[in-house]
Amino acid sequence: MQQTMQDFPLRVGSILDHAARYHPDRPVSGRSVEGPIVRSTWQQVAQDARRLTGALQTLGVQKGDVIGVMAWNTTRHLSVWYGIPGAGAVNHTLNPRLFADQLVYIITHAEDRILMVDFDLLPVIEAIYDRLSGIEHIIVLTDRDHMPDSTIPDLICYENLIRDQSPDTPWVEGDEREPCGICYTSGTTGNPKGVVYTHRSNVLHAMSASTPDMLNLSSNDTIMPVVPLFHANGWSTAYTAPLVGCAMMMPGRDMAPAALYELLEMGVTMTAAVPTIWLGLLQHLKDNDLKLGTLERVIIGGASCPRAVIETFQSIYGVKVLHAWGMTEMSPLGTICSFKPEITRMSPMAQLDAQDTVGHPPYTVDLRITDETGAVLDWDGKTQGDLWAKGAAVVQRYLKQDSDALDADGWFHTGDVATIDRHGYVRITDRSKDVIKSGGEWISSIELENCAIAHPDIAEAAAIGMPHPKWDERPVLLVLPRAGTRPDRAEIMALLSERFAKWQMPDDILFVDEIPHTATGKISKLTLRERLKAMDYRLPDLA
Ligand code: ADP
Repeated sequence: MQQTMQDFPLRVGSILDHAARYHPDRPVSGRSVEGPIVRSTWQQVAQDARRLTGALQTLGVQKGDVIGVMAWNTTRHLSVWYGIPGAGAVNHTLNPRLFADQLVYIITHAEDRILMVDFDLLPVIEAIYDRLSGIEHIIVLTDRDHMPDSTIPDLICYENLIRDQSPDTPWVEGDEREPCGICYTSGTTGNPKGVVYTHRSNVLHAMSASTPDMLNLSSNDTIMPVVPLFHANGWSTAYTAPLVGCAMMMPGRDMAPAALYELLEMGVTMTAAVPTIWLGLLQHLKDNDLKLGTLERVIIGGASCPRAVIETFQSIYGVKVLHAWGMTEMSPLGTICSFKPEITRMSPMAQLDAQDTVGHPPYTVDLRITDETGAVLDWDGKTQGDLWAKGAAVVQRYLKQDSDALDADGWFHTGDVATIDRHGYVRITDRSKDVIKSGGEWISSIELENCAIAHPDIAEAAAIGMPHPKWDERPVLLVLPRAGTRPDRAEIMALLSERFAKWQMPDDILFVDEIPHTATGKISKLTLRERLKAMDYRLPDLA
């Protein structure tokens, strides 16, 4: 049978074209790296993106070339985000917080030919420049007045580079399955692994992520992505926002609570970041007796969101929390906790319980849990198992590896441990390498941490399993007290005992001055384990 429909290649450039054509004057504003708040529109972002496409072509960029970008969330970064794939090249997001060795590794491994860098981040590149062999040009993302002095020769000024290019430069066309962007997982063990998104995977992901039961994003929203564009595909915000034609507020480099608050109050309706950011903001609001005037929804993911954060946002500030789970390997959205009618019908307390879960997946993501033998487990909301995913924007194989990262049935092993309930709501109980295995049972480190953090004097907590000859592992809780407080050990134990059985309770509580984090803001349990090893820590009953 003949099919009669048009072939519409799912290229990311078409997303920006849509925004520029149907939402041309929608504000795209934000704090620039130079300092002032700048105002742009989707039409201007698109014009600059096309200018960049033209400029990259004059530098000899060919289809498939990789361009590394180390930049904060700015309006300029949005043009870069589209100008690179517009030239047929691949946008490799670089996290400035990575260790120097990791940066050298990923820039070399991905074969970046050009680097584009915010001027304040240039020292990060200068420090590793001698170890980068394949870089042909470095473009500094600023104007002539802000070009820094540098040890690197022949730096190119971005604004000068694009100034004389045509705002109508055509995109390089091609197949929707061509590569479009690369993001490396932060690689808590071993080298980071590269995930190469295609135009198609990004477009399909953005379409499913913006639907009502997911982000529920519309042209009436103003979204502020606090999550950096260099984390996990920028949580797709640079695609979902123009796809629906909503306004954007880009926070720039300053993520301090006061700076974020100032921007939130400029009409932002929706924002997104990891829990640590929100802990800081909520404290700032409390300390200064502030209200949130326009914010309606906040997406919290990347790490488990403490219940206290959800409750405070909702009951004190009237802001709905969307607890989300995802991974770099999933572009990144896996699930979002929006309410299906089954949940809306529940009591307020049961709804809050539901928000401890990360919710349900959109169309294009499929999930399952299995036991140690690989048998598929029931969705009873209780049985924990390894979480697997399949989908249109889920990784198939890491860059330059010679086999797929999938099992024989095409499922990707997320490395997370989860339960799924009968409504399809997923509860992430741990990363498989962090789950505490005691006497053949599993204790969720995330649940211990979230419970501990409800104590008013605890700023942050980390639970880790320490080897034990009889039980295999026993939990130890590391606690970072809030400044100026000295939380009481017995009080913390009493708090935990309200939710945990005796065998799940930590064997020890250690008070620490700092809890180390990875480059993507997660608690680094690897570092904590190393620290305990270095101090020759022993569990109380083994000391
Ligand atoms: P990286 O691995 O580079 O730190 P990712 O964003 O890819 O960055 O990390 C994905 C992991 O983050 C997930 O596999 C999961 O362990 C954790 N994670 C993400 N969202 C949540 C959440 N809402 N609750 C618990 N864990 C989460």
